[in-house]
Amino acid sequence: MALRIKGLHRYFSERAGRLGHLLANVRFELALLCLLLLTAGAVIWQDQILLRTTRFTPASTVSNSHLIFSDADSGGKTVVQGTGPLAWACDLRAGNPYPYCGYELFVDRNRGTHGLNLTNMRTLAISLMYEGQATSFRVHLKNFDPHYSRATDDDTPKYLRVEADTTPGKWQRTSFVPDDFGVADWWLRKYKLAPQFGRPQFDNITSMIIETGSEAPLGPHAFQIRQIEVKTAIMSEAQWYSLLLGLWIMMIVVYLGYRFGNLRRALRGRRTLEALALREAQAAANHDHLTKILNRRGVTERFTDLRKDRREAAVTVILIDIDHFKALNDSYGHDYGDQVLAEIAGVISRNVRGADLVARWGGEEFVVVCAGIDRRGAQRVSEKIRECIETFDFGACGQITASFGIHWSQASDAELSQLVALADIALYAAKAGGRNCVRLHRPTMKAA
Ligand code: GH3
Ligand code: MG
Ligand code: MG
Repeated sequence: MALRIKGLHRYFSERAGRLGHLLANVRFELALLCLLLLTAGAVIWQDQILLRTTRFTPASTVSNSHLIFSDADSGGKTVVQGTGPLAWACDLRAGNPYPYCGYELFVDRNRGTHGLNLTNMRTLAISLMYEGQATSFRVHLKNFDPHYSRATDDDTPKYLRVEADTTPGKWQRTSFVPDDFGVADWWLRKYKLAPQFGRPQFDNITSMIIETGSEAPLGPHAFQIRQIEVKTAIMSEAQWYSLLLGLWIMMIVVYLGYRFGNLRRALRGRRTLEALALREAQAAANHDHLTKILNRRGVTERFTDLRKDRREAAVTVILIDIDHFKALNDSYGHDYGDQVLAEIAGVISRNVRGADLVARWGGEEFVVVCAGIDRRGAQRVSEKIRECIETFDFGACGQITASFGIHWSQASDAELSQLVALADIALYAAKAGGRNCVRLHRPTMKAA
């Protein structure tokens, strides 16, 4: 049972690990999908997200200022009276050429100059009951703008006007959109403003007026308003789509930045790898794979650098050749011979200074290059290495010895191969002198 639970646990944690890995790899695709869904949602539920509803009802407007008016204010004989909150009745009588009566609701409570900003208004719906003989009723929105309005004159706010049909004796709901409103003719004629002020404007609506229609007959008319519902958007459609576009642009910029960063990192990584591979290839080309020390090419290159750096220094070239190596190969095999070569390379390397060059010149011959030591120093170094080889424990084969040829010169411009050839003459002398010894090249020595 415990085993099964352990197995299940491992199975699920492996799956979760794989899922985490997958999610990390498709991060951008997930973000893209989220933004796509967000955009679709923002388009489909645009109204729910953006629209705000303000309702004016008899109960909610109790504390708002209002005005019940008629043509009696301008010399007519109409009689009007309030019949409740948002309700009034009038008897239109002859006297004024256009008898009227109506109700003005101030939306800024204290009847001031700061009204509602309905620039992004989508709809204005009025639910009312009309009783009388008129076939239409009028709605005015008054927009206060200090460019042309004065707080002391009720007529100076811009009158935005619309007229709609009545259904006498029945509750009706009439809905308007901003385009339905026009600036009232009488207002335009009266104030004769510059064209830009003659257009409908909804940025500071201070009051709403509902009144009898333009051709209302004389006689009784009664209005009762149940609700005025204003739907406004918190931003215009253009702003909303600009916002979505902005989000997409941001996403694209972030993605491009991310991709660019990745590419740069990949490029940098590749360059590092290439440099590493080049260094490794150079190292491989300059080193002997059996003994791990420099090969002829490597030491020749380093020698050129050394001569550049220390042009004035004396140069010592020591050529070392293992004695009777062929016989050792024959007796103990080629692999054993290889092992001895590697061990001798180690012995030589351990017994020179860090700045000296140690290389396998070829076969069983090694070269040591020292700068800045005199003849005696060169002989001392060679003797030391010779002794170390002679006393080294090579195992089964017993003692191994080597012969040394030295060429020493003061600030020579010769190439390494030329100096090695001269050291080889001294080496020949060492072999001829019985092996396991050191000889210094002298001009009188003869080549083999
Ligand atoms: P001497 O004392 O005169 O130098 O005798 P020697 O046998 O060392 O002389 P010789 O130069 O004739 O022999 C060199 C031998 O080194 C021949 C060859 O078989 C052996 N040799 C050369 N390169 C390698 C190598 O890479 N591995 C092994 N195991 N042997 C090598
Ligand atoms: Mg040899
Ligand atoms: Mg030899």
